[in-house]
Amino acid sequence: MIEKIKALEVIARTLDPTPASRALLWQQTQDYAEEFLQELAQSKAYQKADCPQLSKLEISEEGRLMSEVLDIMKTEIDHAGINSTGGRHLGYIPGGALWVSALGDLLAAVSNRYSGIYYASPGGVLLENQLLRWLCRLVGYPATAHGNLSSGGSIASLIALTTAREVHQIRSHNVRKSVIYFTAQMHHCLNKSIQIVGLGECICRLIPVNQSFEMDPDHLRKQLDQDVSAGLAPFLIIATAGTTDTGAVDPIDEIAEISKEYNTWYHVDAAYGGFFLLVERMKERLKGISKADSIVMDPHKGLFLPFGTGVVLIKDGQALVKAHAHEANYMIDAYGFDEISPADCGPELTKHFRGLRMWFPLHLHGLQAFRACLEEKIFLCQYFYEEIQQLGFEVGPPPALSVTLFRYPNPDRDAFNKALLEAIHDDGRYFMSSTLIDGEIWIRCAVLNFRTHLPEIDGAIQMITDCLARVKSSSGIEL
Ligand SMILES: *Cc1c(COP(=O)(O)O)cnc(C)c1O
Repeated sequence: MIEKIKALEVIARTLDPTPASRALLWQQTQDYAEEFLQELAQSKAYQKADCPQLSKLEISEEGRLMSEVLDIMKTEIDHAGINSTGGRHLGYIPGGALWVSALGDLLAAVSNRYSGIYYASPGGVLLENQLLRWLCRLVGYPATAHGNLSSGGSIASLIALTTAREVHQIRSHNVRKSVIYFTAQMHHCLNKSIQIVGLGECICRLIPVNQSFEMDPDHLRKQLDQDVSAGLAPFLIIATAGTTDTGAVDPIDEIAEISKEYNTWYHVDAAYGGFFLLVERMKERLKGISKADSIVMDPHKGLFLPFGTGVVLIKDGQALVKAHAHEANYMIDAYGFDEISPADCGPELTKHFRGLRMWFPLHLHGLQAFRACLEEKIFLCQYFYEEIQQLGFEVGPPPALSVTLFRYPNPDRDAFNKALLEAIHDDGRYFMSSTLIDGEIWIRCAVLNFRTHLPEIDGAIQMITDCLARVKSSSGIEL
């Protein structure tokens, strides 16, 4: 047996590279990353491509060379589809990927601290809880609030709605009489959450929006009155601080008052808009957010982190724990600490030590860099909004945050703008996405990548000018 163990050991040890081979792999990785970053400013934001090598690549018994793997990564992963890391990404809600976050991620993976449980990693849990406390203060929550760093806004929403369900005791006997209120502009991850956490049988009321796509509070109140008179139980109101389609901010404060009056749970989805609280003059716009019972924010949007970090904040921290904590025999050593463990605040037990990727940039860059970057994005969007009108485009409402809508007036408006969007995607220098508003196509410009600055917006305007000319000439319209 000893012989067998020793033979296996020789092969097993190849999983743990020697310092010399680590240094080589490290250098290759660093070279790759550096080349990627240095090309970024010139890289296309969108490239249609398929992945022939990757599709054929089988996992084999023998290992491969790092260079072979990096080569496929370069051509078929990093140069295919949307380049979400660069400043030319102006579609959907752009992400970021701060470089120092990558260092945090690397170290999180190297040391692999078990950050789900205080007993296993007091420092890791404290670090994440400190970030949560900072976020709670940012939204104006009391010290009794708590939250959870999740993989994104969708899982964060799941945690918020689970807590809401438990606090309001929605069970099979009352679920069909419980009512949820939101607008058609709500993010679809909340429709998913409603299903997943067992609220799919609730009555859902779509509250109309005004011309700026904000929830109409008078309609909300009317609907609540009607539902109460009909013997139903208003349960949950969901508002959005920065909708995905248009960047609209619902009247957060007014809805908070209504929610209080009708004793409902009040959830604010600030996945996109929440971090604009760091910009002093935007605080007024997000006023009342501290009155929400739960808030979702996406650091992988507004804090420019790599994908994989969302956050849920619950005003009543104990309610969050009560809705998620469970005990198990094999966990007894972990009990009896004051600090709340992430594992008691969401569905995950073992998890990525994602706090580090947020902790590094906040400490290394300092807050003023984030404030400036976010405020710059607001101005850049405003600038785009003004410039695009000079080209003869129609626009949506003035941007509340950093998203704006535009389309070209044409008798066959939808077909023309679809063709224009296709031309933009074929060009690929800058990426923009589209949406349907009342069934009609609008092109969106969303400014949130930390690498987007004035030259990128000017470049995007130039690309649109070129694409417009191309579509006009191919459709036979005179310039
Ligand atoms: C992005 C977004 C979400 C979903 O978050 P993920 O991080 O993509 O899971 C929810 N709501 C809004 C308003 C968003 O912009």
